[in-house]
Amino acid sequence: MLLTITSTTPPATDIGYLLHKNPVRCQEYELNFGKAYVFYPEATQKKCTAALLLDIDPISMVRGKERSRTSGPLTQYVNDRPYVASSFLSVAIAKVFGSALGGKCKYKPELVQAPLILKTKISVLPCRGGEKFLYNLFEPLGYTITASRHPLDKVFPVWGESVYYTIELEKETTVQDLLSHIYVLIPVLDNNKHYYVGEAELENLLSKGEGWLAKHPQREIIAKRYLKFRISLAREALARLTEEDDPKFQEYESAASNKEDELEKDISLNEQRIGAVLAAIKSSDAKRILDLGCGEGRLLKELIQDKSFTEIVGIDVSVRSLEIAHKRLGLERLPDKLKNRIKLLHGSLMYRDERFNGFDVAAVVEVIEHLDPPRLEAFERVLFEYAKPKKVILTTPNREYNAMWESMSETDLRHQDHRFEWSRKEFHAWANKIAEKFGYSVHFLPIGPEDAKVGSPTQMGVFTREN
Ligand code: SAH
Repeated sequence: MLLTITSTTPPATDIGYLLHKNPVRCQEYELNFGKAYVFYPEATQKKCTAALLLDIDPISMVRGKERSRTSGPLTQYVNDRPYVASSFLSVAIAKVFGSALGGKCKYKPELVQAPLILKTKISVLPCRGGEKFLYNLFEPLGYTITASRHPLDKVFPVWGESVYYTIELEKETTVQDLLSHIYVLIPVLDNNKHYYVGEAELENLLSKGEGWLAKHPQREIIAKRYLKFRISLAREALARLTEEDDPKFQEYESAASNKEDELEKDISLNEQRIGAVLAAIKSSDAKRILDLGCGEGRLLKELIQDKSFTEIVGIDVSVRSLEIAHKRLGLERLPDKLKNRIKLLHGSLMYRDERFNGFDVAAVVEVIEHLDPPRLEAFERVLFEYAKPKKVILTTPNREYNAMWESMSETDLRHQDHRFEWSRKEFHAWANKIAEKFGYSVHFLPIGPEDAKVGSPTQMGVFTREN
């Protein structure tokens, strides 16, 4: 297994300082699955290549281990592990290039942040999920990719292609970023890991993914594969990524929500939505209002103007959104009397929480489409079984209406973070099922201009508790 990294930014030998490996020597490292060697086939001021060669001992991989019940007797010994880039390579990178991966450079610390023109070659990389997946992983990170696929056996071309590729990645980037990308994405492409995956691996993913994973369009599948489909860990990773308080991520977030705002702007759908929700709240004698997934406080801003509401609570999982809401509502400057009526709380709709109890109305405005479908069930119980407000006012996009926007294709969603968008039929089916299960009645209202065929852009369900 061979990985080479070539710098052509003069003085190219600086890469030796960054990797903490002297270009004049070949170095050898003992790993518990074999040996790693670092050497430089070329080291000039113009071009310098560092090579990491892994010599995996297939016997050491087997020693002391029970034979897997699902594989045949030879699989333990005869497999691709010694020859391909896999989680073994990631472990070797962390061990051999640990300082560079951690962003440390003892002799020339100023180099850590310096982007270099780097060309990386991985000799045999399994791309389970196909070539397109390879591109989907590296292209959003700005790499130019060259991939050549290997046949299963050159002598027997009829056997067809293998899953193995030789790939080259080119980008002007820092060595630390390059190593973090490879460290995370190689086991993702291989879709395998040679060691147990638990909480520690979740932390590892978040630390190596810092600054780039949160905004990667494939972050969901990356987290799932990296964490070996331990779905609860992957969910936690994704929830924490969404919360990430990285300013770069926030820029990306607001760019994404701008797309939704832009689409909906002609019809000032936001205002109509808030107006409709407000009207539904006021149609009952509500005093205590909960705004779940309050975001930047659009609804709260209206609620606070109305003295008939004695307690208003906004909850969101994003600390950043809560900070914006705090500013938007001018909570600093508000007189105490008004300030005491409103609270902003950090929390998640996924977990049962006593702070959600005892409200007349809970508004859930444009939130459920941000939840992973398998997690919806947790949310349903948190709200309808435990918090049990007298009324729930819930809005979500009507997918059918997307056809009215020229810029949207059939499969597009209105916001990058939407996990789904429902047709009216799908929303009604879900809402009726929930109402029946938890003892509520429900009726539906359109929000925004209504088209005879596709309906209105937003759909609202008003649930009323039956006893
Ligand atoms: N209701 C607001 C914001 C809608 S955007 C409005 O109409 O303007 C969706 C909001 O749901 C975001 O602020 C997001 O942070 C929040 N959210 C997503 N998942 C959540 C969860 N599990 N718990 C709490 N809030 C969540």
